[in-house]
Amino acid sequence: MHNNIIVTKFGGSSLADASHFRQVRDILTASASRIYVVPSAPGKRYAGDDKVTDLLYRCHALSSHGEDFSEPFEKMCERYRAIHSELGLKADLEAELESIRARMSEGADADWCASRGEYLNGLLLADFLSWRFMDAAKVIFFREDGTLNSEKTNVVMMALLADRVPSVIPGFYGVLPGGQIHTFSRGGSDITGAIVARAVKADTYENWTDVSGFLMADPRIVENPREISQITYAELRELSYMGATVLHEDAMFPVHKVGIPTIIRNTNHPDHKGTLISLELPVEPAVPAITGIAGHRGFSVVAIEKAMMNSELGFGRRVLQIFEQYGISFEHMPSGIDSLSVVVSAEALSPHREEIVRQIAEVVEPDSLTIHDDMAIIATVGRGMVNNCGTAARLFSAMSRSGVNVRMIDQGSSELSIIVGVDDRDFETTIRAIYKEFVG
Ligand code: ASP
Repeated sequence: MHNNIIVTKFGGSSLADASHFRQVRDILTASASRIYVVPSAPGKRYAGDDKVTDLLYRCHALSSHGEDFSEPFEKMCERYRAIHSELGLKADLEAELESIRARMSEGADADWCASRGEYLNGLLLADFLSWRFMDAAKVIFFREDGTLNSEKTNVVMMALLADRVPSVIPGFYGVLPGGQIHTFSRGGSDITGAIVARAVKADTYENWTDVSGFLMADPRIVENPREISQITYAELRELSYMGATVLHEDAMFPVHKVGIPTIIRNTNHPDHKGTLISLELPVEPAVPAITGIAGHRGFSVVAIEKAMMNSELGFGRRVLQIFEQYGISFEHMPSGIDSLSVVVSAEALSPHREEIVRQIAEVVEPDSLTIHDDMAIIATVGRGMVNNCGTAARLFSAMSRSGVNVRMIDQGSSELSIIVGVDDRDFETTIRAIYKEFVG
């Protein structure tokens, strides 16, 4: 079923100045289905420029200490004034800026201050397009603990946007039960866009940014990596080490759940097809056999050995409980018949290291307990792996040809990925070797 609705979200660099506003308008008017738009706050216009959201956080940091915040505040004002005057807008920007300045002087909190970036950009964009401005404070609801109240949000938003009147809904913020403004974490306008897409039952959620979608590997490691034209939500989850740089991780959930595809597109190259993320994709014998490679350095492996471990009921649970007590979540947990390894972030482990070792020794009485540091984890992901029995063999021989020693293997139960742990120093060599093997 098609509703002929596309929800678009434009990132900060796509709305950084007046000429970008014009580009955005051209994109919106190119399809009659693009009737809801979610803007971020103005981002950087050039390397070294300020992001408006950063300026607003600086205003708050200063005002909350009773210090003069006029320097970042004026910089922020100038950004909006330039857009306003260049586009000849009507909105009473000066009155808005003055009331923001007054609230900041009275001690407005960080979330309120930061949210003004999207609020003002939304006002100006609505003015420019002659569209309705729908304040996110009317349609995005958080619970007291700061988590999204998705049921209430969905119901209210659905009702308020049901008339299909083209609307601008500022990203990044909403309200708490008491009416105070609350924001998502940084980059959270992506989440607002996904929430709007779900509420209006969009056919597609278009996330417009300054890159043409996801790349198969980090371009700082692999030269000119290929773009990913299609990927499933599940694959992207497995590639989460790289996902968050293009799309906020939490932005997948609202649309993934209801099967609305997300498309990452480039505002500066609107002809480029970008990356399509969808629930299901045909698993044809694809070339290349993998969809992407991503990884991260800085893990530690807590390796526990104990004879007959497998017959000891509750062994794994008792070990994990110890990590849980210190608020440490595990990244992977490969296990053998008499061994169990818990892979955790080295940063999270370090303050509790001795305590954790002591408790594991006490609670499960292992034969040996060692911690290996400086491990990197690399996920090679591909929906095609299921039908491609040679993938693992190719991956490991490529690594061995490059002289990389595999320290850990974890083939996800989803059969979508092969995860390897290597020494930090082999991180880049491994990614290059895998890429070369499968892509060339
Ligand atoms: N403006 C906010 C930030 O810089 C939210 C966003 O851009 O999505 O994090």
